[in-house]
Amino acid sequence: AISVFPARRFATDPKAQTPVEGTVDKHEFQAETRQLLDIVARSLYSDHEVFVRELISNASDALEKFRYTALSTAESELSGKDRALEIRITTDKPQMQLIIQDTGIGMTREELISNLGTIARSGSKQFLEKMKHEQQAAEASSNIIGQFGVGFYSAFIVANRVEVYTRAATPNAPGLRWSTDGSGSYEIEEVKDVDFGTKIVLHLKTDCREYSDEDRIKSVIKKYSNFVGSPILLNGKQA
Ligand code: ADP
Ligand code: MG
Repeated sequence: AISVFPARRFATDPKAQTPVEGTVDKHEFQAETRQLLDIVARSLYSDHEVFVRELISNASDALEKFRYTALSTAESELSGKDRALEIRITTDKPQMQLIIQDTGIGMTREELISNLGTIARSGSKQFLEKMKHEQQAAEASSNIIGQFGVGFYSAFIVANRVEVYTRAATPNAPGLRWSTDGSGSYEIEEVKDVDFGTKIVLHLKTDCREYSDEDRIKSVIKKYSNFVGSPILLNGKQA
């Protein structure tokens, strides 16, 4: 059925982000990452909401990094210096999507690979270390996810596909799309018309579709937004 639900309007960028032919690259997740993703995706962890805090905190960090870089970098070395510094969250109920976008520092191809393909974060390492001693992974992970946090990978608590559109602030940095269903591998390809910063598109699991509801997300944002130093817009309005 074709839906005319108004939120649709916000979800789709006016510019089509078309892939650049012949640039798609397939990468295997590092073994540890695969293990972590597997646990997160299958976990019975009940506090689903934490993914919102993690992704907003990453967006906020990215904005801080851009602010800092803008101060310490020559104008000619930095693209999009005059951008509005904000976090834009979009709900798309008919498509069961939640989109979290920032206008921060963005990522290069190398950064996508090292930041989202491997586990650098100390919390996630501790998490895996702890998991090695647990027998029933899915159930055991319930508490440990909350205890250590799994950062970006917490997206897979609620999503069965995650797309990351990103563009770094350096001159000539291409727009990139990173995408995975959270199993063994991910793809990176060049994409046209990507905004500076990072946009995370969560394709929600059916039983997590509540996170594509504006009111639901609004109440979750309220819990965490106190710690965020940049404006958060929800479907175009101040959240
Ligand atoms: P942490 O935030 O503790 O470093 P995460 O798993 O949350 O760990 O994120 C891993 C890394 O991915 C971050 O350190 C950052 O380099 C990169 N990253 C994640 N989200 C973004 C974003 N929105 N913009 C730029 N980089 C990001
Ligand atoms: Mg983080």
